[in-house]
Formats: sequence, structure tokens, C-alpha cells
Amino acid sequence: MSQILPSLERYHRPASLDEALRILHEGGASVMVLAGGVSLGMVPRRAVRGVVSIERLGLDAVEREGGTLRIGAGVTLGHLERMLAGDSPVERLLMVTVRRTATTPLRNLITAGGVIAGVGPWSDLPVALLALGADIVLNGTTVISIERFLADGPRSIAGAIISEIRMSVDGVKGGAFIKLGRNETDLAMASASVVVFDDGVQPRVRVAIGGLVSRPLRIEAVEESLTRGVIDRGALSELLGSLVTPRHDPRAEAVYRLDLAGTCVMDCFETATREASA
Ligand SMILES: Cc1cc2nc3c(=O)[nH]c(=O)nc-3n(C[C@H](O)[C@H](O)[C@H](O)COP(=O)(O)OP(=O)(O)OC[C@H]3O[C@@H](n4cnc5c(N)ncnc54)[C@H](O)[C@@H]3O)c2cc1C
Repeated sequence: MSQILPSLERYHRPASLDEALRILHEGGASVMVLAGGVSLGMVPRRAVRGVVSIERLGLDAVEREGGTLRIGAGVTLGHLERMLAGDSPVERLLMVTVRRTATTPLRNLITAGGVIAGVGPWSDLPVALLALGADIVLNGTTVISIERFLADGPRSIAGAIISEIRMSVDGVKGGAFIKLGRNETDLAMASASVVVFDDGVQPRVRVAIGGLVSRPLRIEAVEESLTRGVIDRGALSELLGSLVTPRHDPRAEAVYRLDLAGTCVMDCFETATREASA
């Protein structure tokens, strides 16, 4: 801990959200929320003097209420994987996504809220949540779409605690998530998720991609082309290239990432459409 949080003085384990928020408010930028702690291995926090653990805040339930699935921000991905049922397209999509995230030991630490608040180009679950049109709940009360959160970035929620992730399961007929890394457990070079909705009026799709830029992105222009059935694999990678400038790093060159993303989107679309029409 001394290497990772060299300035740490206080470790708080409050038993209520109000208390946790009070500590965060008083500590300002020198106090951070601590969930699974896995990000500390990636980003050392030299300025952090205090941490507020969310462990005792009771954010650990997975509930189905009417047509809504609610996931507590403190639920680990390992627990989530065990709680998800295979009989709904939404839960099947989340299960596939969680199983493609990191390794089993890490999934037993990484929390649903932590993977959102600590979002980066590598993030998997936020890609599927974006395609699903999920919302996040801040401080137990304020609901914002994950789409807005991802557009604004984690700094936009500084001082807040993500308490829950919720999404509608109604109208979701099919979904898919595909991630391509250098091996089974590596971070994504590119990923995509496609969800097919049908409310009885007109089917529509939502498309999200990961791995290419700093945070997952919804690609509305691709949604339109896929829905109208006017795009093939090559054209899709070209269209993506006209919309985003992918980063490159030792894992993959920008052009290669674009190709991979195009393939991920097309394969996801085929899988999600097949599920929707089964
Ligand atoms: C070896 C390794 C492999 C990985 N592989 C993958 C992978 O395959 N796929 C993937 O998607 N990610 C992967 N990750 C990244 C991991 O998912 C993120 O680091 C994630 O943020 C860890 O979640 P956590 O619960 O441990 O959060 P923490 O590390 O505790 O926190 C992460 C950040 O989010 C904030 N935070 C946490 N919870 C909340 C909350 N409820 N409200 C507000 N802020 C909060 C913290 O203050 C911190 O800034 C990997 C990381 C490592 C080290």
C-alpha cells in the first residue's frame, strides 16, 4: 500500500452513504473512493491522503424489479456472474461481457461501480452497458445515462459515489459483446457490443465500441446503416475510420484496431440479430 498510496493517512469504512459523502466532501481531492482497489495497480495515487471504502454501504445487491435490472455498485464482477440468469437477453449479454473481463481472481475484486468510475480504453462492461442504454445512480438519488457519463468523463462525477447501475430489460430482444485482445485475458485491442430492441413498432439497434479511444463510444451512424441493412464489413471499418481516430500503443496499431472494431461490430450484429429472431 505504501508504494501505491505513499501519502495515505486515513482509511475510512463508513456504514452509510451519507457518512461516506460527508468524508468525501470534507477531504476534497485528497480523498478517493475505494472499491475493489484493482485500479491502484495501474495508476498510483501519490496525492491521496485518505480513502473511503464502499464495502459497508450495502451496495451489493442484484435485483429485478418489474422491467428493471438493478446492480449495486459494490457488486463484484465475480458475484454478478453468479447472480445473472441465462433466460433474458440482457442478463446473457452481461454474463458474456463479465466473463471476458480480466481473470477469475480479479473479477472477485473488481466491482461494477469501479469498472465504470475507473473507465478507460480497456473497459469491457461499460461497452455493453452503453449498448444497453443503462443508467447510473449517483449518491443514491441522481440518475444519469451511462452515455452522458462516458461523454463527460469520470471527472464529471468527482466527489460523488456511484451507488447503482440500472437498465430496462423490456424490449431487449438480443445482444452481443465481442472483445479481441492478444490473448483470452488481455485488455481489449478492440471490442464492441450490439443490442437489438423491439418495442413492437420498429426494431432498432444500439452499437458501442471499446478499445479505440479513451472511453467507450456509441456510434449512431453505424446503428442507422446496420438497421437499414446497407453496410458490409469493409464499409463498416471505413465508416468507423471516418468517425474516430483510434489510439495506437504496443498492443495494436490504429489501423489494425479499426479493422478489429469493424469485425467485432459486424459479428456482434449478426449474433444479436440471430438471438432476436430466435
Ligand atoms: C491486471 C489488470 C487487468 C485488468 N483487466 C481488465 C479487463 O480485462 N477488462 C476491464 O474492463 N478492466 C480491466 N482492468 C481494469 C479494472 O476493471 C479497473 O481498474 C477498475 O476500475 C477496477 O475496479 P475496482 O472495483 O477495483 O475499483 P477501484 O480500483 O477501487 O477504483 C477505481 C476508480 O473508481 C473510483 N470508484 C470506485 N468505485 C466507485 C464508486 N462506487 N463511485 C465512485 N467512484 C468509484 C475510485 O475512486 C477509483 O478512481 C484490469 C486491471 C488490472 C490491474
